[in-house]
Amino acid sequence: MSSSSPLSSPSPLSSPSPLSSPSFFSLHPTPHTLHPTPHTPHPTPHTPHPTPLRKTPHPSEIEDGCTLSSRHLRITVIGGGAAGFFGAISCARANPYAKVTILEAGRQPLVKVRISGGGRCNVTHACFEPATLVQNYPRGGKALRGAFARFQPKDTVAWFESERIKLKTEADGRMFPISDDSSTIVYCLLQAAQAAGVELRLGTPAIAVNKISHINEDSSQASDRVTPEIGDKGFEICLKSGEKLGSDRLLLATGSNPLGYQIAQSLGHKIIPPVPSLFTFNIRDDRLTDLAGISVANARARLPEAKLEQTGPVLIAHWGLSGPAILKLSAWGARVLHDRSYKAALTINWLPQYNPETLRERLQALKSERAKQAIATRCPFPLPRRLWERLLASAGIDRQTRWASLSKKALNLLVGELLQGQYQITGKGVFKEEFVTCGGVSLKEVNFKTMESRCCPGLYFAGEILDIDGITGGFNFQSAWTTSWLAGQAMS
Ligand SMILES: Cc1cc2nc3c(=O)[nH]c(=O)nc-3n(C[C@H](O)[C@H](O)[C@H](O)COP(=O)(O)OP(=O)(O)OC[C@H]3O[C@@H](n4cnc5c(N)ncnc54)[C@H](O)[C@@H]3O)c2cc1C
Repeated sequence: MSSSSPLSSPSPLSSPSPLSSPSFFSLHPTPHTLHPTPHTPHPTPHTPHPTPLRKTPHPSEIEDGCTLSSRHLRITVIGGGAAGFFGAISCARANPYAKVTILEAGRQPLVKVRISGGGRCNVTHACFEPATLVQNYPRGGKALRGAFARFQPKDTVAWFESERIKLKTEADGRMFPISDDSSTIVYCLLQAAQAAGVELRLGTPAIAVNKISHINEDSSQASDRVTPEIGDKGFEICLKSGEKLGSDRLLLATGSNPLGYQIAQSLGHKIIPPVPSLFTFNIRDDRLTDLAGISVANARARLPEAKLEQTGPVLIAHWGLSGPAILKLSAWGARVLHDRSYKAALTINWLPQYNPETLRERLQALKSERAKQAIATRCPFPLPRRLWERLLASAGIDRQTRWASLSKKALNLLVGELLQGQYQITGKGVFKEEFVTCGGVSLKEVNFKTMESRCCPGLYFAGEILDIDGITGGFNFQSAWTTSWLAGQAMS
């Protein structure tokens, strides 16, 4: 393990690292020796939601008149990210007799959780009204409405609190662990998974999945391929190593990995073409040159052709524009910007608190209030002085011009520059501030009460693999927690 492994992270709890237990963590494991049996139920009920999602056995559970739980239901989660872990924990806690295994391709689990929120992990958002919450999802909001009625940010907060992780809320509603350290969340999920008896296999990419009933339909192959380890129901999971695993239920939580989409497609699912969301804009413009690092707390960015706009902080970067308003705009405009090869007109209103009339009035007043002062000396608006100087120059106003001598024409040009500055987006920023994927498994084919596939019974989805994405602020993790919690409950 590298030095960044959870083993070496400062832990908020005093218990030993979950990764130190060989029964939980395995890199290139010998399958037979890994899973601790029997599964001991978690000592305390942890599910924040009071009612189990499904009370009657799933049809696939009934085998010769008895339920699969009597022979340890095999549940496999492909993907050891936020959704995979949360789904596995939810499932293992709801059915302590199930054999829950996470297959993770990488050598480290929960990599994105660790790097998220600039290393602080923006776990969720303090928005506790589902109808309002869904407005933060450019794609998937409608489908999530009912799901949030079952598991929403309040439940996320309660879940982490029951694990002794307190979250704090920042002024803009973003919620972080009080430690301001994402490893708190990583460690919490690892420990909860271990305590629930989840098996974690690292360095174990799944490369294909076959629905076993499909194999049986092909009678020429059936007798050859059905083995006692795989079973004759559920799924056959093919690992890169050549090993094959049998599983009664399967949760695909592979994020935006192309292999995950491929597996979903092979099981009958439509994939909405994945394109990036939450990115910065490349803009080459004299008004912004050498102003990197300057920010405006409240500006409005518009994509006029797409009729989209967002208001909030805008940050000038050395490649163009960034900051929450730009990231949000990129999310809502993800598809249209992709289709235009990230070349589009952008309008910036640096002073959205004014309209053209009120701004003109303010400038007229300044002509008398500061009559003898040079216009560039002091910016009369909440804008950094260097940006003010650039906007004056762009409006053709010399920095030495006295306020009293500002012509009507120059004043109108300045109003335009301040409220309707025209910029040209020339590309998508490569800096991954908070990158997420728009597109994925089509939501029409997923039952959002259970997250089960409508075309392949026993197959479930959670997290970023779905055609769901949120704006920046903790909404993407919340969608991962919600969908995986529902899937975990339903699979159990
Ligand atoms: C830099 C950055 C910062 C972010 N910060 C935040 C934030 O603060 N708040 C927020 O809400 N969102 C944030 N996000 C978005 C958030 O990280 C994702 O929405 C979230 O991680 C999705 O979780 P997931 O489990 O669905 O997918 P992932 O986290 O991508 O996990 C999928 C896992 O599946 C594994 N996998 C894929 N294919 C296979 C396979 N075939 N076999 C086995 N394993 C496989 C992958 O290795 C990976 O570990 C951030 C994203 C980035 C990139």
